[in-house]
Amino acid sequence: MILPPATLGMLGGGQLGRFFVSAAHEMGYKVWVLDPDPHSPAGLVADRHLIAAYDDYVALDTLGAECAAVTTEFENVPADTLDYLSKFIPVHPAASAVAVCQNRIAEKTFLAEHGLPHGPFAVIRGEDDIRAADAGLFPAVLKVARFGYDGKGQARVADREQALAAFQHFKAEPCVLEKMLTLDFEVSVVLARDEAGTVRAFPPGENRHRNGILDVTIAPALALASLSADMQGSAERIAERIADKLGYVGTLGVEFFVCGGELFVNEMAPRPHNSGHHTIDACDVSQYEQQVRALCGLALATPRQHSAAVMVNVLGELWYEDGKGHGPYREPDWSVLHAVPGLRLHLYAKHHARAGRKMGHFVVIGDDPAQVLERALQARAAIG
Ligand code: ADP
Ligand code: MG
Repeated sequence: MILPPATLGMLGGGQLGRFFVSAAHEMGYKVWVLDPDPHSPAGLVADRHLIAAYDDYVALDTLGAECAAVTTEFENVPADTLDYLSKFIPVHPAASAVAVCQNRIAEKTFLAEHGLPHGPFAVIRGEDDIRAADAGLFPAVLKVARFGYDGKGQARVADREQALAAFQHFKAEPCVLEKMLTLDFEVSVVLARDEAGTVRAFPPGENRHRNGILDVTIAPALALASLSADMQGSAERIAERIADKLGYVGTLGVEFFVCGGELFVNEMAPRPHNSGHHTIDACDVSQYEQQVRALCGLALATPRQHSAAVMVNVLGELWYEDGKGHGPYREPDWSVLHAVPGLRLHLYAKHHARAGRKMGHFVVIGDDPAQVLERALQARAAIG
């Protein structure tokens, strides 16, 4: 067990890392953050910010010498970096689990090998794979295997010709070609797993996207509960199986599509998840505190959601006068949000806003889920 005042290491300095730092500080730990960006949101609040690349071995040696354990908030940390650090100190989640989640080919193959429900797909390493793909996959989505996020590195393709053109556009990088599914809605499960294999899941949330970016999370996911009594349990059990098969230690996010009343795994995130932000405000333990607990070998808390919650992401276009990312730049007027009952605004202190960049979020909580949703959507409309 790692106890305060030990120092914990965090790879990545984004907002997920910033919330981890807050949770760890509340529990009495110190946190060192590694991120090349001198203005990174987590770096700003860390006890020390190592401004270096993820494969800078001088910085990794420093982390390894000074930290009692290390975790990540960013799935694209090189697996070699995690492997290297694990020679000095415990690293959770392990490189092998992160490697599966950071590559869509490895991820889809993992789901298929373990009989976990997923949509039809083909692995695309060259044009011939597109020519050989099952005609039933179209219309489809072509996704680059690595480094895609917020809908980036994805193209919707109606047919084989469009898939070939999109593949060239992606510079013939390895891809997966997924059948375009007709979604009833999307949900996610955030869970924590410890070294002994104990799993604690938060109730699933429903996720609504805009322009490929998560827009709103409704938690708990009432749409899921309305389908059948045990859909929530099914989603949690699938997520738990994934965590077990990965030998996962830490906080994990699993995204699902609900299609024709059935669950299909979309993707996994080896870190806290955007759809779990509300656990800070609406649950008696947050996904970030669970990450600290799992990393340090403390008993995981049993999450209980005490309030209905709706989370809304605040994107960078709001900083621009036209609301689209152009024109004069100014800090939005937050007073309209602060006036909404049950609303809490979280801003990440990012250096510069641009369209599509996640700058903050707000969570509305309350007793009545319908009222909470209405207040959150009204608040979003009021700020643009
Ligand atoms: P990322 O979150 O890394 O950008 P995802 O694979 O989760 O990538 O895709 C983003 C969103 O695009 C999904 O949440 C979903 O709304 C939509 N989407 C992705 N793949 C499909 C698909 N095969 N069928 C229908 N919608 C999809
Ligand atoms: Mg996703």
